[in-house]
Amino acid sequence: MGDSTCLTFSKGASKMERIMRRTVIGAIAGVVASVPLIAALGHIPGVLLLGAALGAAYAVLTDPTPDAYLDNMFTAGAYGVPLWAVISVIALPLLSGQMPEWSADQMRSHFPGLVGWVLYGITLGLCMQFFSDMATRFFGPEASPQTKDTTPRKRIVILGGGFAGMKVAECLERELEKNPSVSISLVSENNALLFTPMLAEVAGSSLEPSHISTPLRSSLHRTEFVRGRVTAVDTENRKVMLDPGMTGAESCQRELTYDHLVFALGAVSNYLGLSNVQKLAFDFKSLIDAIRIRNHVIEMFERADRERDTEARKPLLTFVVAGGGFAGVELAGALNDFAHGILADYPNLGAKDVRVVLVHSRDRILPELSESLGRYAQKSMEIRGVEFRLNTRLTDAREGVVVLSDGEIPTETLVWTAGTAPNPLAKALPFEKDKRGALIVGQDLSVAGHPGVWAVGDCAAVVDAKSGKPCPPTAQFALREAATLARNIQATLEGHTTKGFHFNSLGALCVVGHQTACAELTVPFAREKALRFSGLLAWFMWRSIYLGKLPGLERKIRVLVDWTVELFFPKDIVQTIDLR
Ligand SMILES: Cc1cc2nc3c(=O)[nH]c(=O)nc-3n(C[C@H](O)[C@H](O)[C@H](O)COP(=O)(O)OP(=O)(O)OC[C@H]3O[C@@H](n4cnc5c(N)ncnc54)[C@H](O)[C@@H]3O)c2cc1C
Repeated sequence: MGDSTCLTFSKGASKMERIMRRTVIGAIAGVVASVPLIAALGHIPGVLLLGAALGAAYAVLTDPTPDAYLDNMFTAGAYGVPLWAVISVIALPLLSGQMPEWSADQMRSHFPGLVGWVLYGITLGLCMQFFSDMATRFFGPEASPQTKDTTPRKRIVILGGGFAGMKVAECLERELEKNPSVSISLVSENNALLFTPMLAEVAGSSLEPSHISTPLRSSLHRTEFVRGRVTAVDTENRKVMLDPGMTGAESCQRELTYDHLVFALGAVSNYLGLSNVQKLAFDFKSLIDAIRIRNHVIEMFERADRERDTEARKPLLTFVVAGGGFAGVELAGALNDFAHGILADYPNLGAKDVRVVLVHSRDRILPELSESLGRYAQKSMEIRGVEFRLNTRLTDAREGVVVLSDGEIPTETLVWTAGTAPNPLAKALPFEKDKRGALIVGQDLSVAGHPGVWAVGDCAAVVDAKSGKPCPPTAQFALREAATLARNIQATLEGHTTKGFHFNSLGALCVVGHQTACAELTVPFAREKALRFSGLLAWFMWRSIYLGKLPGLERKIRVLVDWTVELFFPKDIVQTIDLR
């Protein structure tokens, strides 16, 4: 009893100590970084206070990595843009009794503020890294919970290397830093984490495919990475079965044993029983899907360019996307930009030949956003030539034809984004599932009745512990669920009680093509209110927020270079795979 109380106390104390230390470092860095902001905004005391508060918040929310100067500089610098939009463009005018304005003149007057905020972010990132390294040098590393190494070695196996699986591993590495009695393994079909928010940009030829994927091996330090496909789980004997792979050799590792098992296998496309559609449509979930779509579009242009019969050319240059959610809308916008962007390379083809059609079963696209933003997105895409078939169901497909509830569209290209289902592996497991097939978990993300089994992300049916509402299958939630799950595994290993998962959405962003986006950000402490942005400002926010979130400095730089090249040069039409 005495031992465990002591452990709880020291754990709580070290957490407080960590927060205090980061708050002080962040606040000092924030004050130093406020200098360029003062030059841009004036109001010395107010700006210093704001700078210190934001610096402290940034420091508490990010985990320090020794000598990561460039990474910190880029990440904090990228956050300067949304800070500028929310504080300089919206909050400050509102506080002084004026309505925010987006006119060109107003935006020009806000430009020095934008420079000030980006410089603030860059300086904050650099100073925070410097002060944090200095603190480690003079006061030692941050306090972390200590455990006695008396327990037998425990093995944690994570299935899936997407947002959830990767985050669980990262958090466990940190939480169990001082506990060598635990081993962590991560099994995934792919050896890299795919940053799905930028997938449409790969299909639209704006980004190089490998630039939005982060290698799992180089991101994880203590975790053993196993590249393999999970085929079954033997819950009685606590074993995970792996596909022997192409060679099928006996010597190949075929199973892993576990004490704690985390399901983070994500979701797959759900064709709602439309078998012809499944056969003929492109999926849009993986990197290879995006590469295939891009190469297929180029192939269609090459064939259309040789085709003299205008009627036969039509289906070649008609691109149908099924589903008006984020993935479908972003893809339709990106394909439309891509198709119009490469026309200059095909002298026999004109803008009137190209058709991008989005089919959606409801009366408006982007149901996740407010109605006004959904309508705005539709209008700005229509202006750029995208056609919408709303209140329309895709019912079947044949070679060269997509069948809708109210007619047919001759096309050689159909992309399906209209439905997803949890990973089918879950079906075969002896756990409770919801009607979509997602693993039902308790508030602490554990699978009821199976100690040591946990599920997270798109393959789990998670209910928020405070609001009681189901959590949406998004990366935003998967990442937060993963952090809670890692803490709960640690708590279980140490004999403490687990905590329920709670997270308030930060909002949503969607790019609709041609430097236009929609953004709806939740207002902290007033959750029923939302800040709405659209157009170029929202597009700028989308790019800076997601660039900040893209894991790894090297990937950030590569993406930034791709975006810069795209500003000055036409879209690339080199075919990288042969689909014939
Ligand atoms: C085009 C697109 C755009 C999106 N945009 C956004 C966005 O802007 N914001 C947002 O919050 N969310 C977005 N999402 C949703 C987001 O990608 C998912 O919610 C998130 O990826 C879920 O994380 P996860 O770890 O549960 O699953 P995933 O990220 O899908 O990871 C699952 C992992 O399991 C592996 N796996 C699957 N089966 C097996 C097996 N049998 N054996 C071994 N490994 C296996 C996969 O290879 C993968 O690594 C988008 C999704 C798509 C498709």
